[in-house]
Amino acid sequence: MGILVGMDRLVLFDIDCTLIDAGGAGGRSLMVAIREVYGVGGSLDGYTFHGRTDPAIVRDLVMMWGIEGHEVDGRLDSCLDRYAELVQTEVLETGVTVLPGIRDLVAALTGDPGIVVGLLTGNVEAGARSKLHPTGLLSCFRLGAYGSDAERRDDLPAIAVERARALTGRTFTGKSIVVIGDTPADVSCGAHLGVKSVAVATGKHSVVELAAAGADHVFGDFSDWREAHAAIAS
Ligand SMILES: [Mg+2]
Repeated sequence: MGILVGMDRLVLFDIDCTLIDAGGAGGRSLMVAIREVYGVGGSLDGYTFHGRTDPAIVRDLVMMWGIEGHEVDGRLDSCLDRYAELVQTEVLETGVTVLPGIRDLVAALTGDPGIVVGLLTGNVEAGARSKLHPTGLLSCFRLGAYGSDAERRDDLPAIAVERARALTGRTFTGKSIVVIGDTPADVSCGAHLGVKSVAVATGKHSVVELAAAGADHVFGDFSDWREAHAAIAS
């Protein structure tokens, strides 16, 4: 003995408004892809992208803009593929902002051999890669569960757990799984697995809202990354 080993953890980060601010590149690219592939567009009319998966956003928007439900699925993959091309180009032009404390927090977590760090995001995988590529952080994430894996965010935690098992041979359960995000949907998506939820108010939702959604820990941002690290790793 004599070696300090951290607690085993599977730590899963949301991307938009948790790790980075992509300045609306995702939303703009998705609207263009929808226009090209489904031939429709319109007002968002209060619709929010926050916390939803890319395929769910496409489905909601095209149905809101007059596409019949049974006509959505046939073009959904084409639309998401086109979106991924567009967002890659847009992000290369506009860049993304890494949110406060994230570089230090992710570095501390990835440096701990007991911790497996991954992504849990509504982004399709190609979009997730495009958004994180400019930050240099992509290689920090050993696995991911993406909007291209499941349209319902609630289905993503179990996919991440299975990928972590396949990758490491370790089975993560309950509070050894930590889901980090900026929306009530991030907070609730792992509740059925009894995960630990860490929320950060760097998106559209306040500390009060995220606490009300049932997060185990809530931060205004991760600028005090040591405190966040303690909450995640404890
Ligand atoms: Mg988010």
